[in-house]
Parts: sequence; C-alpha cells; structure tokens
Amino acid sequence: MTTYDVAVVGGGLVGAAIARDLAGTNLSVALVEARNDVGDGTSKANTAILHTGFDAKPGTLESRLVARGYYLLGEYADLVGIPVERTGALLVAWTREELDALPGLKAKAEENGYKDCELVGPDHVYETAPRLGTGALGGLTVPDESIICTWTTNLAFATEAKLRSTAILTNHQVTGVRQEVDHTVLTTSRGDVAARWVVNAAGLGADILDQRFGFSRFTVTPRRGELLVFDKLTRPMAPVIVLPVPSSLGKGVLVSPTIYGNVMVGPTAEDLADRGATGTSVKGFEFLFGKVEKLMPDLMSEEVTAAYSGLRAATDSSDYLVDVDAERRYVLVGGIRSTGLTASMAIAEHVMTLLADTDLDLAPRADLPAPPRMPNIGEVGIRPYQDTDRIAADPAYGRITCFCERVSAGEIRDALASTLPPADLDGLRRRTRAMNGRCQGFYCGAAVATALEDGVVSEEVTHG
Ligand SMILES: Cc1cc2nc3c(=O)[nH]c(=O)nc-3n(C[C@H](O)[C@H](O)[C@H](O)COP(=O)(O)OP(=O)(O)OC[C@H]3O[C@@H](n4cnc5c(N)ncnc54)[C@H](O)[C@@H]3O)c2cc1C
Repeated sequence: MTTYDVAVVGGGLVGAAIARDLAGTNLSVALVEARNDVGDGTSKANTAILHTGFDAKPGTLESRLVARGYYLLGEYADLVGIPVERTGALLVAWTREELDALPGLKAKAEENGYKDCELVGPDHVYETAPRLGTGALGGLTVPDESIICTWTTNLAFATEAKLRSTAILTNHQVTGVRQEVDHTVLTTSRGDVAARWVVNAAGLGADILDQRFGFSRFTVTPRRGELLVFDKLTRPMAPVIVLPVPSSLGKGVLVSPTIYGNVMVGPTAEDLADRGATGTSVKGFEFLFGKVEKLMPDLMSEEVTAAYSGLRAATDSSDYLVDVDAERRYVLVGGIRSTGLTASMAIAEHVMTLLADTDLDLAPRADLPAPPRMPNIGEVGIRPYQDTDRIAADPAYGRITCFCERVSAGEIRDALASTLPPADLDGLRRRTRAMNGRCQGFYCGAAVATALEDGVVSEEVTHG
C-alpha cells in the first residue's frame, strides 16, 4: 500500500483547493472523496457569489480569509478561465429599521478593509434595479460583489491538483481511522488509504471524521438553503445582485443574476437533522415566492426553470474551525458554512502557512505543470457555439446537443476526454451545462446519456 505524505478527505471546494496547494510541493497527495466525483456536495449547490466580505464579522478568521479569498480566486479565475461576472451588489432597506442599519454596515465593511460601499437613496436604488418592488427606502452599494461559476471553480482546483500528480480517489468514503506510530490508515469503502498526515475537509461530515481522530469539539448542523432559478428571459430584470439587510439569522434572501444567464432567488435557512436532505420543499417554495412578491413582483408571472437546495455545514461556532494537531499529524478544516466558495483558496493558503511549522517539507516543486485552461460555460465570455473561427476549425462546436443551454457536441466530447471526466450525467452537467436549461434534459437527455455511455457524441444524436 502506498503511504501518501498527505491525504485530504473531501473533494469539495475546500479540500480540492488544499490538495492543489499541497501538490505544488514535492509531497505525494491523495484527495479522498466519498462520492463518484469532486464538487458533488455543498460546493455544487450554493448561491455562487464571490463575496468581498464586506458584511463578515470583523476580526474573525472568516472575515480575513473571505477578503483574501476574493482576491486570490478573482486572479485565479482569470488565469484558468473560471467565469466571473463583476455585477456589483445593492443592499436594499425596506423598513425604517433596515435603513437605520445601513450606516453601521458601511462602517463594518470598512472595518473589514472594504472601503467602496456607498449609502444611496431610493432614486439610486430604482435607477440601478428598476424592476424592484415598490417601497425601497434606500440602499448600500457593494460595487465589487460578483458572481462566479462554482462548478468550474471546484473542477479547476481538482484538475490542477491531478495535473500536479494528486491521486483523486473518488468513491472512497472514509469509515474509520487507525493511527500508527508514523502514519494514519483511513479505512474506506474501497480499501485502506495510508498517509503521514490527514487533512479533514469533509464538509457536512467533518465532525464525524474529527471524532474518529478522538476529538469531541463540534457538531455540524445541516442548514438547508433552497433556491429558485427563473428562466433566461428574466435576466435583464436583475442587473445587479440585490441583497437584503442581514439579520442574526444570516445573510437572508437575495435576488441575483446567475453566471448562466438566469435569475436566482434564495436561499432559505432551515436547520435540519438529516445531512442528506438536499430535496426542496413546498414550505421553501412558498416562503421564496412570498419574498419574490415583495422584492420583485414582476418575477411572479415568469417561468421557474429549476429549484434546488444546498446544505451549509453550520456549527455552534461563529467562525471557521481550522486547527493543526502536530502530534496526531491531523488538520481540521471545519465549519466552512456560507462563504467557502469565496474563501477556498485563502483557506488553502492558511492551511499551508500552518503546516509550514510541521515536519512536512513545503518547498515549492521546480517542475510545476502549467495550470489548466477550463472550458467557458458562463455567459460572460464567448461560448463555443458563438465562435465562428472555432467552429470552422472543428465543426463539432457548431453542432448543438443541448438547445436550451446551447451546449455543443464538441464541448461534451471534450468533457468526456478531460483530465477529470464525469462519472454520471450530473457530473457532465456541471462540466458543460447540458440538461441545465428550461427543459431540464427533456429533449437532449437521451443524447447526452448515450454520449456518456459510449464515451463519444455520435452525429445521429446531435442536431446541426
Ligand atoms: C445555500 C448555500 C448558499 C451558499 N452561497 C455561497 C456564496 O454565495 N458564496 C460563497 O462563497 N459560499 C457560499 N456557500 C458556502 C459554500 O458553498 C460552502 O462553504 C462550500 O461549498 C464548502 O465546501 P467544502 O469543501 O467545505 O464542503 P463540500 O462541498 O460539502 O465538500 C465536502 C466533501 O467531503 C466529502 N465527504 C464527507 N464525508 C466524507 C467521508 N467520510 N469520506 C470521504 N469523503 C467525505 C463529501 O462527499 C463532500 O464532497 C453557500 C452554501 C449554501 C448551502
């Protein structure tokens, strides 16, 4: 059995970012994931905002890492081609109490190092977002809040980790931990994995894994967030991210454009006991429609393309839980609740800084492979079906397989042949957007499934 230098448990945004950084050294790294793909847990179902961190609690690790992560991920996105749209956000006050809270939020943003918020009156609010419901009293601008593709981000981290020789061990659920003198054996559903060091980035399962290392220090409560996605025709209705004034219950319900050209409303916040309860509910649907009626009533008569939910790994701590135990050669990265997409690269950087004081040699590798270039599945850049030169060079990019999302046969073919190919239809959807549109795969589902099964996209199942 290979003994890796480090095994990172959890192939979400956080684990994949950490594995990528560790693999930039001469250490041997394994990314151990229970599911059949990376990015298939909480990281696939969030609101996908690249937060400035303006509203974080000042002085916390979260506040520092969100601000740093915003910068790092923004730079990385440009480098590898993760879609980002710099829409900006507007926090809207609907009551006197909320209006009175805005100057405090501006001061908080400044305490967090973000100086560009401005208090604005109702005229500015309606100039910026004319389709908002009536009754807005004022607002606070957050010009640098942005939207990003969470799927491509996770895939980029894991792809680069793999290019840097990380072993991506999917379908490996860790069920037990045995600590030997100089290494740890992880019992998994696919056999044992041995490593000198273990990083626990298991998201909703982080407390259970932590207990297997002999700790009893926190409990994860899955906090469900449900969201509605409206049809593409609504996109002009949401030129910016419209944020509510946050309360003690969290960030609240926003109306946001999505990177795929839709409008999204959500999320709810509901504490559950079941860590697998990612279904949507009638209660959530009704609650969100109540919000839509107030925030943007024009949306009420528009089509809903999809509803989905994600589970935040909430804990009783109000901050991230990051801890290195040199004796057990074990790192906990837990409680990364509602900002982990933005903070992912900064969390990885922070973990590397903490590990620098251990027996791990973190000197950078001399032979780093070039970073990957990810396919653009966002609306902000040119998509293959719009690129005449590319189609002339390779007609597969002009043959559409998924009409709703304009996904070409060439993109599906590329995804199937990529460094980290999909294991199922959902994985293919996260790599290409196929079946993500208005018909939710009604028309292209069979063609896409056949392509996945055969490993190629045949001419018969696509449309010229
Ligand atoms: C509704 C909602 C909205 C959000 N909006 C935003 C936002 O706009 N911006 C933002 O920055 N953040 C947002 N977040 C937060 C962000 O999505 C999370 O912080 C982030 O995805 C956490 O990543 P992770 O890697 O810790 O967890 P996960 O993505 O859940 O990854 C953990 C992985 O560990 C695996 N695992 C668990 N147990 C085991 C085991 N025993 N063995 C092997 N593998 C295991 C799981 O299968 C999973 O793949 C939101 C979250 C939600 C739910």
